[in-house]
Amino acid sequence: MRYSGLFLPTLKDVPSEAEVISHQYMLRAGMIRKLASGIYSFLPVGLRALRKVENAIREEMNRAGAQEVFLPSIQPAELWQETGRWDRMGDELLRFKDRHQRDFCYGPTHEEVITDLVRREVRSYRDLPLNLYQIQTKFRDEIRPRFGLMRGREFCMKDAYSFDRDEEAAEKSYWIMFEAYKRIFTRMGLDFRPVEAETGNIGGAFSHEFMVLADSGEDSIVFCTSCDYAANVEKAEVRPVAGRPRPPQGEPGADLKLVETRGKRTVEEVTNYLGVDPSQLIKTLIYRTEKGDYAVLVRGDREANEYKIQKVLDVDAVSLAGPDEVKELAGVPAGYVGPVGMSLPILADEGIRSMGDAVVGANAEDHHYLHFDPVRDLKDARFADLRVAVAGDPCPRCGEKMEERRGIEVGHVFMLGTKYSEALRATYLDPDGKERPVWMGCYGIGVGRTLAAAIEQNHDENGICFPFPIAPFTVILTALNPKDAKIRTIAEGLYTALQQKGVEVLLDDRDERPGKKFKDADLVGIPLRVTIGPRQLKEGRVEVKLRREADGTTVPVEGALDHILALLEDHGQT
Ligand code: ATP
Ligand code: MG
Repeated sequence: MRYSGLFLPTLKDVPSEAEVISHQYMLRAGMIRKLASGIYSFLPVGLRALRKVENAIREEMNRAGAQEVFLPSIQPAELWQETGRWDRMGDELLRFKDRHQRDFCYGPTHEEVITDLVRREVRSYRDLPLNLYQIQTKFRDEIRPRFGLMRGREFCMKDAYSFDRDEEAAEKSYWIMFEAYKRIFTRMGLDFRPVEAETGNIGGAFSHEFMVLADSGEDSIVFCTSCDYAANVEKAEVRPVAGRPRPPQGEPGADLKLVETRGKRTVEEVTNYLGVDPSQLIKTLIYRTEKGDYAVLVRGDREANEYKIQKVLDVDAVSLAGPDEVKELAGVPAGYVGPVGMSLPILADEGIRSMGDAVVGANAEDHHYLHFDPVRDLKDARFADLRVAVAGDPCPRCGEKMEERRGIEVGHVFMLGTKYSEALRATYLDPDGKERPVWMGCYGIGVGRTLAAAIEQNHDENGICFPFPIAPFTVILTALNPKDAKIRTIAEGLYTALQQKGVEVLLDDRDERPGKKFKDADLVGIPLRVTIGPRQLKEGRVEVKLRREADGTTVPVEGALDHILALLEDHGQT
């Protein structure tokens, strides 16, 4: 490709709408342009990189025995009604009617469509196992689309679905995908971790997310410093430290004491006023669920984990009561609610058991109690692990300390079990002629999000530093002063020779100043740059420089091609 004819509009300034680095660089490097909120056009350079990611995924999926299909993006409402998700999906599902007033949606995921296909075609145990995947556009009307491709509304996803005879076979398929995902992200040169995860809207028995480690990540993950336990904080278990002696705070066994805390409502205000640490206060939160309202107790310096509350109560959804609801349900303003005399059922985090002497709201306006002893004073409460894990918590597997990092969820694998096959009656006949539900798994990768995550991990102050496997071009030939016949001849010679060797090469033949050419090459992040300029050419040499390295080396013109090819081979590009 010649730069002079390439549609590559680079930008000098950082676009104001772009908060994260990958979004800024993708706009500046002319890879994408916004059409509407969360909806982007791919320009040639962006599309080339996207295709590289797609192809890496495709090769590994094929290698793992999955077969590519292409399903419709427009889906009839009836299928979603069969699984109950037409109602449950809410506003994220983009719905519309056709000319006959029939309801449709734009697919945010394809469990329904693929299970419908399989229930029609799979008859016998001999038709299983089956793993089908596609690489396709999804639409989710996200509340807060942001960070460019990272959280779009329209985005490209690879989604795969496995179908097996029984649980054991389904788990085998799951782990084959798990391994394929590890290979996919490894070969793209990403620093990532698989973590245990919640199953969310998709549902199922268990799941893992693949997280690219980056400070800009929207997710938080904890992992053990000693064993290989790693989990999304949404999911991470907190194992209460067994038998820990209760800390000697205050006077053990002291009676509850009512104190005035006028106008002090937040944990910070109350603990500052009383001169105690937030870890010595128990906050009381009111949660509403379809099964009723609950008071949830957690330590003042910890956060309640709504997924855990949901699971313990076995409800579909929980929501924190707002100030007005709190007043109505507890009879006191938010900030003074507490367990003593609480009329709602109480759920208490395990972690508060070891607090010997705590501050709690008094269930009376402008008052708190001192010397609350959870063991003595919480007779009817139900204790469970209810809080969000944090750095420093003991690993639930081995007890060693856990660390916390930010991550970008690029992939998600789910063990679905028979959730969808039962809802849609996707069955097969076993060898005894008995009808059984198909066991399923599903496996997604955000293609655009993976590209964005790769840029979050691979850039410097001058632009993107693409890893070789996903770079839009492998080599850029920068011809300084291409009007000079000698420079032009050498540049064109290398261009043709590299193309003949199958190298994806961009020839910068533009009539631009050297500074501009170098800046653009750095911004776009092509991994290898070869500069053909008058200074080196005087000595019969050209400069070869890796994008990631500060300095290049010069090589004689005659040996340049071999040198470049050898370098590419060193970097796995054959
Ligand atoms: P998130 O929690 O980030 O919304 P999700 O759990 O809803 O993700 P899945 O339903 O598991 O996502 O979708 C599979 C993959 O698709 C995700 O791992 C992610 O890489 C990608 N993905 C999901 N939503 C978006 C989006 N809005 N924009 C870009 N990629 C997305
Ligand atoms: Mg989502």
